[in-house]
Amino acid sequence: MARRSDARRSDARRIGMLGGTFDPVHIGHLRSAVEVAELMALDELRLIPSARPPHRGEPQVRAVDRLAMVELAVAGVSPLRVDDRELKRDKPSYSIDTLESLRAELAAEDQLFLILGWDAFCGLPGWHRWDELLQHCHILVLQRPDADSDAPESLRNLLAARSISDPLALEGPAGQISFIWQTPLAVSATQIRSLLASGKSVRYLVPDTVLAYIHAHGLYRDAN
Ligand code: ATP
Repeated sequence: MARRSDARRSDARRIGMLGGTFDPVHIGHLRSAVEVAELMALDELRLIPSARPPHRGEPQVRAVDRLAMVELAVAGVSPLRVDDRELKRDKPSYSIDTLESLRAELAAEDQLFLILGWDAFCGLPGWHRWDELLQHCHILVLQRPDADSDAPESLRNLLAARSISDPLALEGPAGQISFIWQTPLAVSATQIRSLLASGKSVRYLVPDTVLAYIHAHGLYRDAN
């Protein structure tokens, strides 16, 4: 509890963002989100489904279905929320655009935390206007205890200048990087799509409400 109160020294709100295709959302995303939100004493953790991800192929199901499933998954689960701003834009989902638009809605002192897996973090130098991200947010890197963790050369200077070891010591609205060590549940959306395409059960890998939606709408029956 002492750490929690340290993390909340001011009236600034603490908002996390977790982007993804969520094709479909699953318990790996959800457990991870709950754990980060608790550890960081977040006021909100926003799951942000992406429209056309710049770094990968088209999602298998329509945006409206991916959004509906994330909404069902987080209904009534504070402080998780869904943010559909990327689905409202008719452009690729660049994080810098999302951060700028979210920032514009917040008070200047509010703290914004962009949550990224280690792999995504290592790919940062390929992102659109990546060197501007830290003007708008802190970056929380989810690190697996078993992972190889040598950062690429292009990120070494940034890490040396901006990273701190204790995520609860991130100060101010933006500008620093820290790490959260977390063992992810061994589940992926790829695995779920493949189970469904071969007629197998995904019960307990997704919330029951999401399972009911998948079946009611006949999603993921065909391999893609
Ligand atoms: P796919 O299998 O289609 O690539 P995915 O399961 O990795 O999908 P995404 O929607 O691409 O899901 O992931 C969104 C975010 O959630 C990413 O930051 C990703 O690293 C993270 N994530 C994915 N699976 C897990 C998991 N099992 N535990 C914790 N975080 C996860």
